Amino acid sequence: MVHSMKISIVGGGYVGLVTGSCFAKLGHDVTIIDVDPVKVQSINNGQPPIYENGLEDLLKQNTGLRLRASTGYDSVAKAEIVFICVGTPPQPDGSANLSYIESASTSIGTGLKINPHYCVVVVKSTVPPGTTEKCVQPAVLRAAQKTEREIGFAMNPEFLREGRAVEDFLHPDRIVIGSNDPRAGKHVADVYRNIQAPVICTGLIAAEMIKYTSNAFLAAKISFSNEIGNICKHLGIDVYEVMKGVGLDQRIGPQFLNAGAGFGGSCFPKDVSALISLAEKIGDDPILLKSVIAINERQPYRMITLLLDKIGTLSGKRIAVLGLAFKDNTDDIRDSRSIPVIQELLDQSAHVAVYDPMAMPNMRRIFPALEYCACAADALREADGCLVMTEWPEFTRLDHEFDGMKKRIIIEGRRILSCKDRDGICW
Ligand code: NAD
Repeated sequence: MVHSMKISIVGGGYVGLVTGSCFAKLGHDVTIIDVDPVKVQSINNGQPPIYENGLEDLLKQNTGLRLRASTGYDSVAKAEIVFICVGTPPQPDGSANLSYIESASTSIGTGLKINPHYCVVVVKSTVPPGTTEKCVQPAVLRAAQKTEREIGFAMNPEFLREGRAVEDFLHPDRIVIGSNDPRAGKHVADVYRNIQAPVICTGLIAAEMIKYTSNAFLAAKISFSNEIGNICKHLGIDVYEVMKGVGLDQRIGPQFLNAGAGFGGSCFPKDVSALISLAEKIGDDPILLKSVIAINERQPYRMITLLLDKIGTLSGKRIAVLGLAFKDNTDDIRDSRSIPVIQELLDQSAHVAVYDPMAMPNMRRIFPALEYCACAADALREADGCLVMTEWPEFTRLDHEFDGMKKRIIIEGRRILSCKDRDGICW
């Protein structure tokens, strides 16, 4: 049975747009609010402003029916539930910038002033523990001139992975609902009624901490694997064989043990840094978390070291970089490991030819003067070396394309190739 609620989603980026489209698919009535008129127009035209598997179909099926976008907050006046999905980017000291959360909270409160129903404001953005209670709640109540009896508050962290976001949203491992008020918590659980997954109910700050802890643990698994991989490389051991044997231990698990060029994206680097900053503010010295970041910062430069070992100097050399997105199946380049690699290649006066199936328009904004190629073969033609930075499935089939290089000098930052002459960063 379709159970429909009126939902407003504030922030139509990777999380907000996927959340809104999936809730519409589940039969809810959804309005996405974003300050960016270009995004709003694109959503209303049924065209996702980002690349994400399955999203275009969802927009085509639901836009104009159960899904719409707007730059205004009018829909909040009729909403039963409002999700905050705005960005929480890092500040120079690593802490989370909460200015978008603050401004969204005030706008939501203003919209709720004339809402005659009980409504719950749910923070889905990743925020430091205490933010929902100390920042969002007072700002909303103040602007709405209402009390906690009229507006409930909850924190519902999002665990989707870009590239598999729709699938992850509809089939999550768990749904975490944090609230200090059982009525608000139940209201949020209702909206997820059609999704089969364990629901974990916690207090507000525990829910906020669950998200940071999950990301910090996953990032730690990757940095740990990279450290072991670096040791294995020196010893001539295949780290993937090692991790296969290690991951079958049920206490460890096989996922996130893939050694390589390190983690990127909009979440792991910023969330681990925010947790470090939070710990330091309360007088702790989070040495493990700092090492997770330090290993990750160093890892991409190992690609360059390996390349230099093989070709001596980079000056005047043509280097093909395959893969710009921080992972496969996305156009997102935020904190992608290819960025420091390309910067270093340029600093050492290399000519950089790049190819990525989705992320080239985004990378052009950072590095406008690279040679952007239409396919991998074009980037590889006459190249002195090749660095593979993203695990795009289409790269797994590459082989004869490398024959176009001056010599097959191929360094993999992700273990995906199956051709001969490849050399892995830590295998
Ligand atoms: P994003 O930058 O893609 O999207 C944020 C959107 O919010 C933008 O479109 C922006 O225009 C809009 N916005 C900013 N201020 C606004 C306001 N006052 N009113 C309306 N719209 C406003 O960010 P994202 O990747 O979707 O991440 C959002 C949050 O979710 C972050 O806290 C992030 O850490 C968290 N998160 C992200 C992912 C991910 O994979 N991207 C996964 C889980 C959680």
